[in-house]
Amino acid sequence: MLTTTTVVVGGGHCGLAMSRCLADKSIDHVVLERGEVANSWRTQRWDSLRLLTPNWMTRLPGHTYRGDDPDGYLTAAQTAQLITDYAKESAAPVRANTPVLSVRAAEHGYLVRTDQDTWHARTVVAASGATAAPHVPQLRHSVPTGIASLAPTEYRNPGELPDGGVLVVGASAIGEYASRLGVQTCTGLHTGECEVVDGHVAGAAAQMCVCVANEAEAGEVLVSSTVKDLVAGSGIRFEERGVHNLAECGEWRLFAVEKLRQD
Ligand SMILES: Cc1cc2nc3c(=O)[nH]c(=O)nc-3n(C[C@H](O)[C@H](O)[C@H](O)COP(=O)(O)OP(=O)(O)OC[C@H]3O[C@@H](n4cnc5c(N)ncnc54)[C@H](O)[C@@H]3O)c2cc1C
Repeated sequence: MLTTTTVVVGGGHCGLAMSRCLADKSIDHVVLERGEVANSWRTQRWDSLRLLTPNWMTRLPGHTYRGDDPDGYLTAAQTAQLITDYAKESAAPVRANTPVLSVRAAEHGYLVRTDQDTWHARTVVAASGATAAPHVPQLRHSVPTGIASLAPTEYRNPGELPDGGVLVVGASAIGEYASRLGVQTCTGLHTGECEVVDGHVAGAAAQMCVCVANEAEAGEVLVSSTVKDLVAGSGIRFEERGVHNLAECGEWRLFAVEKLRQD
């Protein structure tokens, strides 16, 4: 069995930042990484991705942006390079290609089992990332075979997609990129109490959102009358879209959010 004071699981931003801080305090440690350093930026990002945060915001302990484009946005490849350079500069004790399989409490610390060895450590830092495994809605299982379905971690570029329309589920970064690809989203908003069933948002309010979204045109944000009433006085303007019969949700008056003028 191998021993160290601290095992850090994950060689991304957080694991390497922690490693740098431990080294500054002369605390003996090892960083166990299942792939190469910056694995998620090498293997789980699409080709055209750029960070949402500008260069000047990208800071790590002992590292600030030194280039001549503080307001620029790094690509995924540049981000991977930055993290790799940081690991080298810090001489971080990374063991690459070493997936951690389990962590168990043990006498005076923890036993960390990898696919190669077992480590005993007084402390363990879990820096394995918040987005290491995609949270895919159960809906995926109901998608008919023959329709390609991808998680953002698997998507690389539009060239890999089969011909035809694309449905994007979720409106975070990938949703924003979808509009750049010419894919328009239909958004439905309602408000009400949600239930969480098996980790998934469910219940009448969630069902209502789906019904409202089904009525939206491409690129439109459609809201129920409840949402419109709730934001009265906010300055948001709506266009009336009439009364819709929303299958199991009944009849509802719907409104489209007026697009903001650019001028
Ligand atoms: C698409 C996307 C875009 C983003 N854009 C931005 C942005 O613009 N700005 C921003 O600040 N943040 C952004 N983030 C968030 C970003 O992921 C974090 O800021 C940062 O990369 C998190 O670092 P981390 O070390 O926690 O996780 P990661 O960088 O994911 O590192 C975790 C590491 O742990 C390793 N690992 C996981 N499980 C194990 C295991 N069992 N054994 C060994 N190793 C393991 C992984 O291989 C990985 O290398 C984005 C995230 C995503 C998904």
